[in-house]
Amino acid sequence: MLEVMTSLFLFVVGACLGSFAVAQVWRLRARQLEGLKQAHKKYDKAEYSRLHKLVGHTVQRDRSVCLACGYQLRWLDLLPVVSWALLRGKCRKCRKPIGLAEFAAEMLLGALFVVSYLFWPYQLATVPSIIALAVWFVLLTALAVLFIYDLKWSQMPSKLLYFCVVCAIIFLICNILQGSFGVAQIPSLVVALVVLPGLYLALNLVSKGKWVGDGDYILAISLALVLANYFSAVMTLFLSNLLGCLVYVFIALANRQNRPKRIPFGPLLIVGFLLAFFINWARLGLTL
Ligand SMILES: [Zn+2]
Repeated sequence: MLEVMTSLFLFVVGACLGSFAVAQVWRLRARQLEGLKQAHKKYDKAEYSRLHKLVGHTVQRDRSVCLACGYQLRWLDLLPVVSWALLRGKCRKCRKPIGLAEFAAEMLLGALFVVSYLFWPYQLATVPSIIALAVWFVLLTALAVLFIYDLKWSQMPSKLLYFCVVCAIIFLICNILQGSFGVAQIPSLVVALVVLPGLYLALNLVSKGKWVGDGDYILAISLALVLANYFSAVMTLFLSNLLGCLVYVFIALANRQNRPKRIPFGPLLIVGFLLAFFINWARLGLTL
């Protein structure tokens, strides 16, 4: 019974953080455009005029707005999952479709929170183990922001990437404290760091940022630190590349006239990482 209650609670928390993540995506983008404008660099003027109203709002004061008509969403429109279902994904005022990304992020993050809690391989009995789970939830939220951002604009905000690295370091420290990472695992971690961020950094340097973006290897650093073993790192690399090929073929078949130029690698890396993370748990479960 307690497990059901906790799962339900975590789904709601995950869903709320999912809608928070989507709001952050637009706010970060608005801030980036503002920065480009002030530095007199090239920026998309139409996009700026739509988004600039998001700049300068604090997180507490800011409420999401419909980007089509500027309608300020009330608390009734901001309930995770529920509002989207009630309004059938349309703005209350202008009836333009909004909130599909929010809805998807809410459902996915809610589900990931529940799955993580139910299958967490370590006993949630000590302070470090509980902090580790909490940091994991924060990291999932940050990854959701990076996922959408990279998908939309083929880049990732560097501040958020460094935030992920910090989260990953805290996660690793918690694992050391709770005894699930020891001296014996250090070589495995080193191999993971060489395989994931090492390879991406090398590709980035060789191609001068053409094949692999600057953000990708910083993201890979945090993923390797969280995985902390070579098996999962190789698995992440394999799965994200396999996924990349599948997506490429799919897009190429869907529009034969113009083949895709470049697929943003961040989302692929994140999906590969999540799969590898959970596969490693299943593997641990088998050997325990
Ligand atoms: Zn509207």
